[in-house]
Amino acid sequence: MQTAAAVVIGSGAFGASTAYHLARRGADVVLVDQHALGSQTSPRAAGLTSKADATPVMARLRHEACLAFEGFEAEMGRSVDFHRSGSLKAAYTEPGEARLRAGLETARALGIEAGFVSAAEARRLAPHFEPGPARAIGHVPSDGWLEPAKVAIGFAARAAQLGARMLPFTRVEQLLHTGGRVLGVATAAGEIPAPVVVDAAGAWTSRVAAAGGIALPLVPVRHQLFITEAIRGVEPLQPIVRLLEASVYVRYADGGLLFGGYEDAPRVIDALALPAGFQIADLPLDLGVLHSLVDEVADRFPALRSARVAVHRGGAPTMTPDGRPLLGPVPGLDGFYVASGCCVGGLSLSPAAGRALADLILDGKSDPDLTPLSVERFRGRFAGARELESACVAQYARKYIH
Ligand SMILES: Cc1cc2nc3c(=O)[nH]c(=O)nc-3n(C[C@H](O)[C@H](O)[C@H](O)COP(=O)(O)OP(=O)(O)OC[C@H]3O[C@@H](n4cnc5c(N)ncnc54)[C@H](O)[C@@H]3O)c2cc1C
Repeated sequence: MQTAAAVVIGSGAFGASTAYHLARRGADVVLVDQHALGSQTSPRAAGLTSKADATPVMARLRHEACLAFEGFEAEMGRSVDFHRSGSLKAAYTEPGEARLRAGLETARALGIEAGFVSAAEARRLAPHFEPGPARAIGHVPSDGWLEPAKVAIGFAARAAQLGARMLPFTRVEQLLHTGGRVLGVATAAGEIPAPVVVDAAGAWTSRVAAAGGIALPLVPVRHQLFITEAIRGVEPLQPIVRLLEASVYVRYADGGLLFGGYEDAPRVIDALALPAGFQIADLPLDLGVLHSLVDEVADRFPALRSARVAVHRGGAPTMTPDGRPLLGPVPGLDGFYVASGCCVGGLSLSPAAGRALADLILDGKSDPDLTPLSVERFRGRFAGARELESACVAQYARKYIH
């Protein structure tokens, strides 16, 4: 096989965006996927964005990503159907309110319009939402939602136009390395020598890294959503609504409402034990998890009590012990990078995550500095599988209050 300057493993949102940004800067890239391009967790997402993130590096990346989605069609030649609906976040406890305030303040410091609205204003903006005893409701008018199935494939298609080579249905089976330096990958179809390899393998990230003798601090968990049949009065530009303590989200979809949430005890997926040929479509789903969450918040969204479920889907996003992604070099193997640990927010981060990682690979630095998202931050911690899993599950459970 021909050599490459970089091999990106995984054509989900993270990998496809990284491949696109590398190709855009003139690098000779190969994007490899064991399945069809962009076909696994990425197209199953809810497609929500959220700029109000209390962690400054995340807020900057999320803001950049949102702007990229607004300009996606101009840059990529195809749309992701970004709807600038705005978003509401409602807090019902003092800690929830403090968390909401911190996120809004970080957003405002970056020049993003973000503030509080009254319950009456929230009801006017999102008539399907009954705020009840909310202590505070945050509003970010420039947030929005997009069509998840169009993101990864949009990046991959544009990367191919720029000369990146696409290798779908090609599984990476080995990382080639010697003396602490990556040399490329071995696939079912042969070897691809390359000085840079990016592990963006989603639920399979740890499995790819394990082939190079490396353990990464992340764990895949199941996350699900449903979309109801059409509900009268629900409109595309009504804001996304998130309830912090319950950790559920609701947005318009296909004339109805899309509902998802973060249960206390998610199903954890053992990446190393996944059978060969496993696809996310094989993941067993459980609508009961979502019904239990609906029962908790039905007074806030009365239409969900009786609406029939038209679509139920789920995927296997990866969680890290601090709820932030892994973006950057992997210690112990020069030239090996990771773009994973999406923490159920990778789709909306992907334009900026891929851009920053491509800059880091090509220039040795990026803006913003990705050090807070490096694997290195977990050095010496979470070495035991059980400790790692419980820290990751704790970040997933009721995610909006961490
Ligand atoms: C129900 C649900 C709702 C969500 N809602 C949101 C949301 O509102 N906003 C948001 O930002 N995010 C959301 N997410 C999270 C989002 O889907 C992920 O952050 C994003 O898709 C990350 O994609 P990825 O590239 O890491 O993984 P994937 O899309 O799964 O891509 C990984 C790819 O790697 C390939 N691969 C793995 N191993 C190998 C190998 N050995 N060789 C070759 N290829 C390999 C796989 O085949 C796969 O195509 C949601 C997720 C779910 C499940």
